[in-house]
Formats: sequence, structure tokens, C-alpha cells
Amino acid sequence: MMLQFSEVVKVFEELEKVSSGNKMRVILASFFKNCPLKSIDKVAYFSLGQIASKYEDINTGMADKMVVKAIASASKNSEEVITNYYKKSGDIGETAEHFIGNVKSKLSVDAVFDQFHKIAKLSGAGSQYKKIILLSDLLKNCSSKEAKYVTKIILGTLRLGVGDMTVLDSLAITFTGKKENKKILEHAYNICPDVGVIAKTIASKGIKGIKSIDVVLGRPIQMMLAQRISNIQIIKEKIPGKIAAEEKYDGERVQIHISGKKIVLFSRRLENTTHQFPDIVRELKKTIKTKNCIIEGEIVPIDPKGNLLPFQTLMQRKRKYEVEKYTKKVPICVYLFDILFLNNKSFLRRNYLERREALEKIVKESKIVQLAKQTICNDIECVEEFFNKSLERGCEGILAKSCATDSVYQAGTRGWNWIKWKREYSKELIDTFDLVVVGAFHGRGRRSGKYGALLCAVYNDEQDQFETLCKLGSGFTDVQLAELPKKMKQYVVSKKPARVIANKDMNPDVWFEPKVVVEVLGAEITRSPMHTCAEKEGRGFALRFPRLVRYRPDKKPEQATTAREIKNLSIA
Ligand code: ATP
Repeated sequence: MMLQFSEVVKVFEELEKVSSGNKMRVILASFFKNCPLKSIDKVAYFSLGQIASKYEDINTGMADKMVVKAIASASKNSEEVITNYYKKSGDIGETAEHFIGNVKSKLSVDAVFDQFHKIAKLSGAGSQYKKIILLSDLLKNCSSKEAKYVTKIILGTLRLGVGDMTVLDSLAITFTGKKENKKILEHAYNICPDVGVIAKTIASKGIKGIKSIDVVLGRPIQMMLAQRISNIQIIKEKIPGKIAAEEKYDGERVQIHISGKKIVLFSRRLENTTHQFPDIVRELKKTIKTKNCIIEGEIVPIDPKGNLLPFQTLMQRKRKYEVEKYTKKVPICVYLFDILFLNNKSFLRRNYLERREALEKIVKESKIVQLAKQTICNDIECVEEFFNKSLERGCEGILAKSCATDSVYQAGTRGWNWIKWKREYSKELIDTFDLVVVGAFHGRGRRSGKYGALLCAVYNDEQDQFETLCKLGSGFTDVQLAELPKKMKQYVVSKKPARVIANKDMNPDVWFEPKVVVEVLGAEITRSPMHTCAEKEGRGFALRFPRLVRYRPDKKPEQATTAREIKNLSIA
């Protein structure tokens, strides 16, 4: 049985109308039920507005000008006509819907998917022109509604409000009938963050198949995270035995997959960042003694003597062009601290000491590739001494890691096996939070024409929803303020996204699809009827006096501070 693309489009139209996450899950679940196995992964990607898993780095490589050209060619209109309409509507999908669609479509999901991938594969000289032709050919066979979604997926601007977790929830409902099984799916997703693979596996092999999903070289693993504490003594309560104190470097987390000659680097968001760090890749080839492993570390900027530099310096390396030139201008090094896979075996279930030993064996240290500095402690005095030394070296603090037999690598989990202790905590300043921007209020007076404040939310990972915590209006530079509306424009949606939970009296002037993460410093956590973070009896948690610290482009919205963390902090 071939699944028609028009069926998917019908469901997307429905999803665009719903205003609750639960309804969304029910709609998706009932659709998955009737999806042929062959197409279920493709439908899962499409519902996220993607054509593959993010880590695969497969992009159509088309800009809106090229899509305009394809619409013009397919609809036999001049480019000018299409451009004018697009300028007025501001929406590529609506433009395509208006001009395309004189045919009764027979397109299958697979045919659309294949055409997207053909477009993505084209590169090099003349490829732009060929991409336009392929898209135009596809559009000629689309109904108007189909054209709307095809163009949005091509440009990556489909905003249905569906997230990876929404898809997992829906799959759990469809194929196991039990909500409790969601945990098993989430666990598999942490090891295999590819909803397409999860969808196909559960549809073909059921929950048993999901349980046997394992690490695959080249496919990133969700990174293990650390808990925060308010008093250094708590480390001893949480880690009763030996404590490995490691320097906490303030840079960019990297997961390195080495398979033969191929080396791939993944960021915290599990995006392929190999092209950004050719110097690290070259050095890894010389310093890692195996050709089959997954290791993790932190990339940090250094001065010519190898001293650590502030995190901000690393930002200069985030570029598309002149990457090689900047390897000299902004030297970096990587401090390795974990190993997750070696010689075709998963190391996730090995304890910390075993993993560290295996890591030390395969690394021949150099100036650019080093092991994270570490010491094993029996008491807090030792941890504190190491912490002070780490600060002197320019680190932002330490990680205290459990060495117990159960100190396994908890993929995607913020557990008590890793605890962070930072300079800010020791000075009793409140820590920062990573919040998701979900709305904005227009500014007045000096800020008219700009945003006056942003509505920010935490992620509730149990309910897969975003709950508001504060209105953020300070900490912005004038330049940041001026740029905000332009930066956020691509995420504007016409109504509150289904997975955003806000008080009915909270009415921002614009709503955003939850995409952008900001790091925010606050003074105090209180209860407020205006916010919905971990809400109980009509009152949620709220952050008082929030200030913007920086944007966190390295974090996905689902990696923001969770409602549970806020709740735990306010109790502690
Ligand atoms: P922060 O904003 O404090 O850096 P985070 O939310 O990015 O924290 P956490 O899980 O809270 O992430 O802290 C762990 C992070 O610290 C890791 O993601 C990694 O990037 C970084 N890090 C630096 N040094 C180490 C180390 N030795 N072991 C583990 N992680 C380290």
C-alpha cells in the first residue's frame, strides 16, 4: 500500500488548528496506526518539518529566492508576480498554495521524500539551477495544499508545533496502547535520537525491538548532564563513596565518532560540527590510538601558551567561511573526559573508573588533545582544594563524578552521578537558567517599535510542554534589542503553540514557536498566579528580576532548564 501525500497534508491541516498538545498526540497517534511501515519514518520526519534526522546533516540547500523561481516555473508565471505576492503575504507556503495546484494529485509520500533527497544531494557548480528544476517538477504534480507543505518543508519553515517527544508519545500510544511505555521509548531515543528509526522499529518489532536498540558508530548519543547543588557538602551526600573531581571547562561540548579514517564531531544539539574544527580533527588523527570509538570532551579556546581563555572567544570559530584562517587566529584545544564506545562495544554500562581507564589508554596527549584534569577524592576537603585550583587555572568550576559500580553513562539524563559546582554557586549568587522564548510584548517609549519584554518558559519533560517562568526585559544591549524582532521573525506563529502552557491572562503581542534558548540570571524564585511552571493550585513558579546573560544557540528547546529543576531548587 502506498501512502498518498495528500493524506499527510490532511493531518497537517488538522494539526495546524489544534490548541492542545494532547489533541496533537491523539491525531498523530491515529494517523500512525494506518501508516504503512515503509513510510512511517518519512511521516515522522515530515511532521517535524524535516527530511531526515538533524544529525544526518541533509539539507535541501534552497533559499526562498530559489523556491520563488520554482513556483514561477511550475505555475508558468513570471518571477516578479510570485515575488510580489510573496512579499505581501510573507509566507512561502501561502504563496505556493495560491499559484500551484491545477492537478489532481497522485503523489505518494515516498515520491515526495525521494525528490527532496534528490534535491539535497545536488551540490557544486550549476546545482542551484538543477535544484530549482527538480522542485518545479515536484510542484507541477502537487495540489495547492500539497504545494504549501512541500515549500515549507523545503525551506525548513514548517511550524506545526510537533517536537521529537510529541512523536515518541504518539508512537507509544499507537503501538503499545500504554502510556507507561513512553519511558522505554525515551530511553531508546537517548541512545538513538532519530525518530525515524524509532518509528520504524516500534512499527515492525514492537517494544521488544525498541529495547534492543543499541549504540551505532556515526549516530550521536544524547549527552549525559550534571545536577546542580546549592552547597558543596551536598556532593558527599549524593556521592557517598569515592568522588572523581574533574575540571569544568567553559567551552563547547563535543561528541567525537571515529570510524576508520572518518571522524565526525557532534555538538550538544547533536548537530554535525566537524567542518568547524578541522584543527581538532587533524590532531585527533595523530593522538587517538584506535579507529573505532566514541569519545566526549569540551572544546575550549586557548592562548599560545595553552592557557584557557573565556568561552566568548570560541564564538569567533562559528563561521561558514575562512574556517582554516581562524584555526590560527583562534586556537583551541579539546579536553576529553569520557568514552562511550570502543572496538565495536558499547561502554555506556561500564562504570566511571573503567571508562576513564579505557580513555586514558587510547589517548596520546598533545597540546591540542588532552585529558580532562582529574583527581580522585575521599572527602569534601579534597574536592574543595581541587575546585580552588581549577578556578586558578581559569576553569568555571568542577564536576564531581561518582566512581561507584553503578556510575554508568546515563545518556540524555541529568542524574546524580555527575554534579557541577561552579564559582557562582560558591559566591552564593543564584545560578543561571536556560529558558525558551515563547512570546514577546511590544515595547513602549524608548523601546517602541522593538520588543519590550520576552515571555520565557521552562521545559516540562514529563508532560512534553513549555511552561512560562518570567517576562524578560533587562540585560539586553541596544544592538540586541534592535535586532530581536528580525531574529525572532522566522518563529512567529499566529496563535499560542499547542505545547506552550500559559495563564489565560498572559497575552503577549506575539507568540513564537519554542526554538530560541536564552541564558537568564535571576534573583529569586517565587510563586505567582501569572506563570505556569510546575503549577499547583493555580500558582506556578516565577523568576524574579530576570536578566539576559547570553543566547544559547547550542541548546535545543527540549534541553532548557526543566520545571522539575526549578521545583527542586525552590525546595532546597
Ligand atoms: P553550564 O551552562 O553550566 O555549562 P549545561 O547546562 O551546559 O551547564 P551541564 O550538564 O549543567 O550543562 O554541565 C555539564 C556541561 O559542562 C557539559 O555539557 C560540558 O559541556 C561541560 N563540561 C566541562 N567540563 C566537563 C567535564 N570534565 N565533564 C563533563 N562535562 C564537562
